[in-house]
Amino acid sequence: MVSGQKTDLISIYIDGREAQVPAGINLIEAAAIAGKEIPHYCYHPKLSVVGNCRMCLVEMGMPMKDRQTGQPILDENGQNKIQWIPKPVIGCGSNVVPGVHIKTHSPLIEDCRNGVMEFLLINHPLDCPICDQAGECHLQEFATEYGRGYSRFVEQKVVKPKRTRLGKRVMLDDERCILCSRCIRFCQEVVKDDVLGFVDRGSYSTLTCFPGKQLENNYSLNTVDICPVGALTNIDFRFKMRVWFLKESKSICTESSVGTNTLVASREGKVYRITPRRNDQVNDTWMSDSGRELYKQIESPNRLKDFRINGDKVPVQSALETASQLLREAGSVAYVGNGHCSVEEQFLLKEITDFQPGFVHWVAHTAEGDGLLISTDRTPNVRGALAVGLIHTLPTKDCSALAAKIDTGDIQTLLVYNEDLIQAGLTKEQLSKVHIIYLGTHDNETVQQAKVVLPGLTVFEKSGTFINQQFLVQKFQQAVPGPAGLVPDINILSYLLAQVKHDSFAPPSVETIWEHLSSELTYFKGMHFGSIPETGQFIEGKAFAHLPFCEGKTLHYNPGKTSN
Ligand code: SF4
Repeated sequence: MVSGQKTDLISIYIDGREAQVPAGINLIEAAAIAGKEIPHYCYHPKLSVVGNCRMCLVEMGMPMKDRQTGQPILDENGQNKIQWIPKPVIGCGSNVVPGVHIKTHSPLIEDCRNGVMEFLLINHPLDCPICDQAGECHLQEFATEYGRGYSRFVEQKVVKPKRTRLGKRVMLDDERCILCSRCIRFCQEVVKDDVLGFVDRGSYSTLTCFPGKQLENNYSLNTVDICPVGALTNIDFRFKMRVWFLKESKSICTESSVGTNTLVASREGKVYRITPRRNDQVNDTWMSDSGRELYKQIESPNRLKDFRINGDKVPVQSALETASQLLREAGSVAYVGNGHCSVEEQFLLKEITDFQPGFVHWVAHTAEGDGLLISTDRTPNVRGALAVGLIHTLPTKDCSALAAKIDTGDIQTLLVYNEDLIQAGLTKEQLSKVHIIYLGTHDNETVQQAKVVLPGLTVFEKSGTFINQQFLVQKFQQAVPGPAGLVPDINILSYLLAQVKHDSFAPPSVETIWEHLSSELTYFKGMHFGSIPETGQFIEGKAFAHLPFCEGKTLHYNPGKTSN
């Protein structure tokens, strides 16, 4: 259910207790609202309902009424008598109606679950110690809770293919597959890339790619996320780390302006994987494969790790003092901002431009969107720059105005924030005419020409906020520490700000910057960093709605009501 959506609530009874739930949802979702878990494998809230695993069986009943008078029939305690349906029903395929009674635990239900588990485990290999899913495996969890605890199966298990590559990122172990069809439905319904299916029958049913096809779409790793067992594994992650050692930090994908919610899993300062985090108003439960690769930028060989002046490594303080001096003493300055910076960083950059005015240039990073979770704007926070007033219109790829100002000698110092101006279209000769202060994370040709290099932190190494294409302010958390000796970008910018303001420097925090944001800028009035919900908070973006590629909505898939 999308937050903020109005729905009619009805009263139902789950294990004898009344609960208010939205009309029309299925029993699994209704029980979850009431704090009860109905175990399931094939059901997924963002996919159609097929009801094939039978794990979510529950008892369902309605209050009895006298057929002639229509009056409720009461028991000896004066309570409504319940007419229980003689057979259990599947929770995924049965929707709530007013007054319905559900039993999620009863001797009959426990017996059913026990039987389902026994069938599922008959041919399942006992390889949990080497299975990557261990620790987050529903089969393992439900076997512990609802399984028999011992096997009565003495026959030979069916042998199926092992280590089958379905594509370049996904590995299949067919013996572990419980035939829930989640992966098949995901490909058909969400990505519209119908490549997976079952072949053979009964115990011999096997998941496979259709002849001549591969699971190669840019969303293929979502099948690994939703596979309830260890049948599908991520080739990049498998055998690298046990999941129970991983710390998960809530983050935002920086691949585009969609702002996909993610979980960054790390251990001892090293990131091992990125998985999607559910946010129904942004990305449902999905994310792109390309977005999952972004953590590799942390350890990229061209990562900037040293403060430098004229190419020589220097202490932090010398680099900051030289940069401040260049800014303060320049007759004219130009600033090159970036849609990868956080709202807080853009705000500080805006403050610097207020005290040391100069030409602000912004390079657009655009490419064709994919209609799902990668938008035209390939930066996460151009909307942030609009909201803090650093830019007033959306950037283009045209650098001619900046180039002209350099050519005519109108600019002496250029503060470049994480942007390769050579790639953007300027020449080395043009860059040689100005003093460049470069603040950024990775080496490039602009860095090579910089007088002062101030290394920055990646999104994984700091906290802050981005504003996505819907003007939704979303927080991201630091997952790992940055390289030794580096300081947060907001400290560098605050230092430069203090210098151009002739003020004393006090190390900032994201929270203190938000106090300024909420008191000084209309769009953030009354907002505080700590109170921004995990699912984000909208700011009024109508003022910018006329601008191109303010797409204003996120294309995400939600099949809505159950289909059977
Ligand atoms: Fe279900 Fe996983 Fe088998 Fe796909 S591979 S059908 S998601 S158990």
